[in-house]
Amino acid sequence: MADTEKTENTGDMRLGGLHHITAVTGDAAGNVAFYTRVLGMRLVKKTVNQDDVSAYHLFYGDEIGHAGTELTFFDWPDAGPARSGAGTVVASMFRVPDRAALDWWLTRFDELNVTHEGIQERAGRAVLPFSDPEGQRLELVAPSTDEAQPVAGGTPWAKSPIPAEYQIRGLHGVRLLSARPSATLQVIAGPMGFRETGQYTLPPTEGSGERLVRIYQVGDGGPGTEIHLEERDALRMGRVGIGGVHHVAFRTPTNETHAAWREQLAEAGLQVTPVIDRFYFHSIYFREPGGILCEIATDGPGFATDEDLATLGESLALPPFLEPYRQQIEAGLRPLPTASSATA
Ligand code: ZN
Repeated sequence: MADTEKTENTGDMRLGGLHHITAVTGDAAGNVAFYTRVLGMRLVKKTVNQDDVSAYHLFYGDEIGHAGTELTFFDWPDAGPARSGAGTVVASMFRVPDRAALDWWLTRFDELNVTHEGIQERAGRAVLPFSDPEGQRLELVAPSTDEAQPVAGGTPWAKSPIPAEYQIRGLHGVRLLSARPSATLQVIAGPMGFRETGQYTLPPTEGSGERLVRIYQVGDGGPGTEIHLEERDALRMGRVGIGGVHHVAFRTPTNETHAAWREQLAEAGLQVTPVIDRFYFHSIYFREPGGILCEIATDGPGFATDEDLATLGESLALPPFLEPYRQQIEAGLRPLPTASSATA
């Protein structure tokens, strides 16, 4: 009996929801301007891609960049445009506090000429799909009135140009277009532990009819924990590039649960990388069978490990192993507006 108790999965082995989503920009300066001034997110870390130090890696999140609040970007001006299609993330969703916030954002998007599709009802929630200036597909999602929200949203940032009651509170979920939907489902509902909780249909667009989308949640469920799988036939393969998503990361609390996740995924037959110390968190990566690059990352240690909370993101931060090369790295980067001027 003691043995069964010991081998039972503890609550800590459930994924905590989304950790971050990483996308691609070809215009770092315009990217900072849109995400900080228009969306009012905080640039919590300005660093470089650790595998390609000629590229900025920009992290936007809540006041301190809590796990679960960040959309991040690699600055790859030569990457070419993304193409939506099989094997790609087709929308990244942010959570806002309520429907009133969504109405406020609709007015703001109209005033600032942000491309949007108006407010829509999906599975009982109000959703506002919109795009950034490079065509990155984003959505603001308001919870339904009676919806439980066990995963805490982010902390409003006092210096944001957006009033606290309307601010983006982190990631809501991610919509995937799998190249092999049943194989993707076997992984997310299998070793990753997601469960189906609802569905909705998307209206027809050029090139495709009405599309069914199934919602899956993990861990405690609710906003911050969702994968939406879109069903579409006769798809051409998509392509990662400017205006598209590079990978999606999910949360686990500690280095111990992280190591256990690596074992669990490897046992399930997935090709998973060794644990990589990203300095702000630990990461492992694997490609799910439908083509989407996934990551599991630890909640900590977080972004305040090498900078003051008050000045997060204002200067170029480098992990200790890159610090000796700071001069060469800085010389290879394009200048960016500072965070303070970005919020003016
Ligand atoms: Zn990542």
